[in-house]
Amino acid sequence: MRDAEAVLFAGATLDRAAHLRGDAAALAELLRRPDARTLPVWRGKPLLGPGETLGWVAVDTPFVRAFGATPIFLGLEDGAPRFAHDVSDWEDTEADAAALGRFVDPSRNRPPGLGPGLAFAELRAVMGQLAAADAGNAAAAKGILGWHRTHGFCAACGAASTVDLGGWRRTCPACGTQHFPRTDPVVIMLITHGNAVLLGRSAAWPPRMFSLLAGFVEPGETIEAAVRRETFEETAVVLGPVGYLASQPWPFPSSLMIGCRAEALGRELRVDPEELEDARWFSREEVLDGIGARHPDLLPARRGAIARFLLERWLADRLE
Ligand SMILES: [Zn+2]
Repeated sequence: MRDAEAVLFAGATLDRAAHLRGDAAALAELLRRPDARTLPVWRGKPLLGPGETLGWVAVDTPFVRAFGATPIFLGLEDGAPRFAHDVSDWEDTEADAAALGRFVDPSRNRPPGLGPGLAFAELRAVMGQLAAADAGNAAAAKGILGWHRTHGFCAACGAASTVDLGGWRRTCPACGTQHFPRTDPVVIMLITHGNAVLLGRSAAWPPRMFSLLAGFVEPGETIEAAVRRETFEETAVVLGPVGYLASQPWPFPSSLMIGCRAEALGRELRVDPEELEDARWFSREEVLDGIGARHPDLLPARRGAIARFLLERWLADRLE
């Protein structure tokens, strides 16, 4: 697909400079540089500044010194060091507790002493407003910090592991096992039959929201096999040839969405209620109406999601 890399979260601009990760002296030097900046991330929410830009702050800012865990080296931006800090130990006494648990958390959390206009925001809520580079860099920071938050203990022996390689590995001091950041492959498929596309919805989603079918790739599976299995499990639809279209980092918490296309062999559906609340065939005209908020039953996946990206290109005949 020609414009595959125009998908949201694909625009990260940082040079990851992986050759520096193992050099502790060089990393310490980079942290002390006056042009070093860090992106604080609070409970999965990156810091944003005015105009929905990323809130890069000085590494030695008091808030980061007070609440920041081990710095993670994200890379270099035009030669200047960029880090990320998990600042989840901060307690926001004014937080909207109900909003924090929602599918899309619209609330902002304003840390003290970082300057006006800076607030933590949930990436899913703002992803449609971010510039490509900011979205990509935020996805990298959120993804790697999310991995550290949930992988503090060695999966081999249970001992607490330590951060290594500038944040890109954890090592167990008890048994020596090395652990690397996880990325979980998820297939997401644009399944068509003639003029119609197959869309499904989960019970937990906002009302009327439908999206492409998707599911995790299992051990021992190819991408193509996962597309066929997930589609059949959820809807009993059998597919013809399966092809790859585009991929998207999806840090909720650590997926790589692998966008595929396939032509169904028929339209008969049998929805598995354990997996989906509903699945239907929608015509191109209906999807267009849904995007324009003119369809009574259909709100297609939100802007920024690869499902929406693929649907819009299908409508425009731009999948090649
Ligand atoms: Zn261990």
